[in-house]
Amino acid sequence: MVYDAIIVGARCAGSSLALLLARKGYRVLLLDKASFPSDTLSSHFIHPRGLVYLQHWGVLDTLLATGCPPVHGISLDTGRFTLSSTVLPLENINFGLAPRRYILDTLLAQKAVEAGAELREAFRVQDVTRNGTHITGIKGRTTTGTPVTEKARLVIGADGLHSLIARAVEAPTYHRYPALTCIYYAYWSGMKTGSTALYSRPQCVFLSFPTHDGLALISVTWPRRHFPKVRASIESHFLEALALAPAFAACVHQGKQEQRFMGTGNTANFFRKPYGPGWALLGDAAYHKDPLLGHGIADAFADAERLAQAIESSYTGQQPLEEALAEYEQQRNREALPLYELTIQLATLNLTPEIQQVQEALQGNPEATQLFFAVLEGTIPAATFFAPEHIQALLTGTQTKLSRPEVVS
Ligand SMILES: Cc1cc2nc3c(=O)[nH]c(=O)nc-3n(C[C@H](O)[C@H](O)[C@H](O)COP(=O)(O)OP(=O)(O)OC[C@H]3O[C@@H](n4cnc5c(N)ncnc54)[C@H](O)[C@@H]3O)c2cc1C
Repeated sequence: MVYDAIIVGARCAGSSLALLLARKGYRVLLLDKASFPSDTLSSHFIHPRGLVYLQHWGVLDTLLATGCPPVHGISLDTGRFTLSSTVLPLENINFGLAPRRYILDTLLAQKAVEAGAELREAFRVQDVTRNGTHITGIKGRTTTGTPVTEKARLVIGADGLHSLIARAVEAPTYHRYPALTCIYYAYWSGMKTGSTALYSRPQCVFLSFPTHDGLALISVTWPRRHFPKVRASIESHFLEALALAPAFAACVHQGKQEQRFMGTGNTANFFRKPYGPGWALLGDAAYHKDPLLGHGIADAFADAERLAQAIESSYTGQQPLEEALAEYEQQRNREALPLYELTIQLATLNLTPEIQQVQEALQGNPEATQLFFAVLEGTIPAATFFAPEHIQALLTGTQTKLSRPEVVS
């Protein structure tokens, strides 16, 4: 049989798309070489802009019921002063959430199956099949080594940064920046933390937030050039960084590290052309950026929503597939670029004098502080917050409160 869509990769991008397409009644085959529940290399904070999708899809309440604590507060310790705020609500969501990936991804895959998608786990896709330049399906193997070929109207790569589908179709990349940071993280018990705590120091940024099972995730980000020496002695560099915030380091020492360090220096930044004849890409396979601001999961959800709409508009005869997918790319770029550029800027870990000045001026101004954090959360465009008239008002104190700009829809 010919599926309407074969989706390679069943985590936050692939399972979300499978769930949306299956709910629209399409025949979807969802493949992953992993077996769920399965963890992956990723910290996992989701800002309200990502949670809004889960709410629309009817998944947020189930996720909350797994015992993942909502995170209402955020602080930034600059080394000279600390800014604190509550999360700016988006729709009715006034918290972030940091579900473990083996819980989030499993839940999304289950929801896709409930909606009618066919999920094959422990299935490794090895190549695509073609008719000329048109992609017509996939070839792969089960764990027992049985070769399998499947056909689809559209083969979709949701297979992450090293996407086999993107390589097979030679998807062009653009807006490229080299990796700017490296990051390591681990989980601690015994940390009394209910909010996101960020620490900005010269040459590193570190943070903690609560997740499932009473654990806190703690991560440290360094400039990419430090990767060889950090990797050679992760624990000592990690603790050396935390010691730059002595009170926080003392809390960490009172807690207990529960899992080994995980990390990467592969934080390359690029967009891929996300479609071609018979194929499409979404999630990290289509657009990868430094994880510093924690937007990869929300971006995967946004891609799933946009791509599902594009596919439906073509399959229902409203527009040719190529035109619908071209719009998918344009919309993705329009919506993703501002946050991408902010990420690149902040991932240099060198705060511009302008941002330092703004942070100074935020002290004692809770409303503006909340809006500043909302820029990092992706709820308010940086261009709106950093508009000259807003910054002028903030720096001169001529207007103690910034007007509340329109939030990103
Ligand atoms: C260190 C780190 C910290 C991060 N922190 C955050 C954060 O706090 N918040 C946030 O929002 N984002 C964060 N991110 C980014 C986030 O992890 C990614 O954006 C997100 O995982 C992308 O999801 P995806 O579904 O596109 O791809 P992935 O999660 O990479 O899933 C790809 C899936 O494809 C499967 N696959 C690959 N190849 C094949 C094949 N040939 N055959 C079958 N299956 C295949 C894999 O098994 C995998 O399950 C972080 C990333 C890193 C590395």
